[in-house]
Amino acid sequence: MALLTVSGLGVAIGSVAPLDGISFEARKGEILGLVGESGSGKSLTAFAVMGLLGRIGGRIATGTILFDGQELTALAEPAYRRLRGKRIAMISQNPMTSLDPIVRIGTQIDQVSRLHLGLSKPAAKARSIDLMEQLRIPDAETLHNAYPHQLSGGMKQRIVIAMALAADPDLIIADEPTTALDVTIQAQIIQIMVDLVRERGLALILITHDMGVVAQACDRVVVLYAGRVAEMNTTQAIFASPRHPYTASLIACIPAHDQPEGTLLGIPGTVPGVLNYPPGCRFHPRCAGAMEVCSAEVPVLQSLAPGTVACHLQGMPA
Ligand code: SF4
Repeated sequence: MALLTVSGLGVAIGSVAPLDGISFEARKGEILGLVGESGSGKSLTAFAVMGLLGRIGGRIATGTILFDGQELTALAEPAYRRLRGKRIAMISQNPMTSLDPIVRIGTQIDQVSRLHLGLSKPAAKARSIDLMEQLRIPDAETLHNAYPHQLSGGMKQRIVIAMALAADPDLIIADEPTTALDVTIQAQIIQIMVDLVRERGLALILITHDMGVVAQACDRVVVLYAGRVAEMNTTQAIFASPRHPYTASLIACIPAHDQPEGTLLGIPGTVPGVLNYPPGCRFHPRCAGAMEVCSAEVPVLQSLAPGTVACHLQGMPA
């Protein structure tokens, strides 16, 4: 069942329109990957859902965001503030932007459940320690008294996840939650998040540029390119037969196990900046299969069950 339905979302910042017609849904008990290179619009989409566009001078220009039956685009800031943290929580890439360096970590987790669930001090502390244990933080009782600088990067990010879970939210948006960590720790933390989301029946939107993370964690995937949806499908279908050339390129960039160290695959060219979005299909300057029509006409998002794709190649004779 859809918990969050984003339809035709367009975002404007001043006179530019970085997001254009973004549509997807996030379901309970499901991990939805929001994928694309830097500049594709993933974080901006998260900001729009969290009601934080005003902080960067942006606004919703078109579309709707329906969360558990409530239309969020018309929500006033005080009501949004009650929703954030309580029903929708966010985990950011850098734990230090979420943690106060001079407050004990236990106190920071306690504060969330005291504020949003009205728990007493001892009940909040017991809940925090329980959450820390679920996140496989060793010696949670002792670490409840520690300060952020006493923990490794991976442990700090587990504390941020504990804070996100402390108010018992329905939806978590995790924006590149493990990018700053080394690969082994990354995989461990992603697995812990996957297990907790499944156990609790939450919806998780996992923002990442890494198709390896998608393969490990996600049930469905939305691929974004230059502020538009390129393709959306189940993870299985996306990997078995990507329909959009951009999706295929992202998958081709996953490093092979036997790849020599230091060699990184990338898609030639870069995502265009919002002031330089090309006409037609925005991927056409980088697409090996581009045709004349691609620079002239915007490909519409077509439904090809079980997914959708926006590419002029669809429907053409093979
Ligand atoms: Fe490539 Fe054309 Fe498809 Fe865009 S519409 S991805 S340029 S083939």
